[in-house]
Amino acid sequence: RGRLTMGVRVAPLGGSHVLLLLDDRTQARRVEEIRRDFVANVSHELKTPVGGLALLAEAVEGAADDPEAVERFAQRMRVEATRLTRLVQEIVDLSRLQVADTLHEPVIVDVSEVAAEAVERSRLVADAKGIEIATALDEGVHVFGDRELLITAVSNLVGNAIAYSGNDTKVAVAVHDADHGIVEVAVTDQGQGIPEQEQQRIFERFYRVDPARSRATGGTGLGLAIVKHVCANHGGEVTVWSEEGRGSTFTMRLPAAPDSAADTHSSPNTE
Ligand code: ADP
Repeated sequence: RGRLTMGVRVAPLGGSHVLLLLDDRTQARRVEEIRRDFVANVSHELKTPVGGLALLAEAVEGAADDPEAVERFAQRMRVEATRLTRLVQEIVDLSRLQVADTLHEPVIVDVSEVAAEAVERSRLVADAKGIEIATALDEGVHVFGDRELLITAVSNLVGNAIAYSGNDTKVAVAVHDADHGIVEVAVTDQGQGIPEQEQQRIFERFYRVDPARSRATGGTGLGLAIVKHVCANHGGEVTVWSEEGRGSTFTMRLPAAPDSAADTHSSPNTE
């Protein structure tokens, strides 16, 4: 709508038919550019693990009479294959989110239950690094949306908090009703932090502050892009506060579902 209004202003001859057509073309070109970029990025990102697997397969063949080496290469093949599976899954998730700007069949979702589930899914990885996850999850905090997508988003934030923090640090996950009908989900870590000039770029697809480190931790560079789209599709946003060497807080802010909707499990429009 905004774009159309601008079109009307610059058109010298008026004629809404022509204007609509122009706007359509600009929009179509933009979508096409995004799609081309995405395909280029995806092929580049897929080449790394696929190339890695091919090299490892060769190495296995060459080491046929050294069982220990075969075991070592096989282990690395498993790691690459797992990463590839995750990458493909995230590419599918992200393209679905990008195609649909809105949610399919939104329902009332208990945000603290979502956060608890996300924490549970990260428990093993956290334990392996001696990281304690503290939670402060208020009851009765609801949004209108998609439970699985929200779990994915919070899991991505918790997973990053663990991946980019040292051993024996703490991660905190909090859910509460902020003012003005906004629900906040905040994930705080005591990790390496993010340089200020990088803080906006990290939400772009495949953008990483340190690509080598991200790969080493099994990162795909898509996690935060997915979080951003899940928040947008719920009518909200995600922001970051971070200080290098001290840690980061990622905050999702989503419109709260009205209380009555949560009580009756009906849509917010029916009260
Ligand atoms: P990745 O799979 O690489 O983690 P993300 O999209 O989830 O991809 O994150 C993009 C980049 O943002 C990461 O590679 C990392 O550089 C940075 N980042 C994300 N979360 C954190 C965090 N909690 N602490 C420090 N850096 C982070």
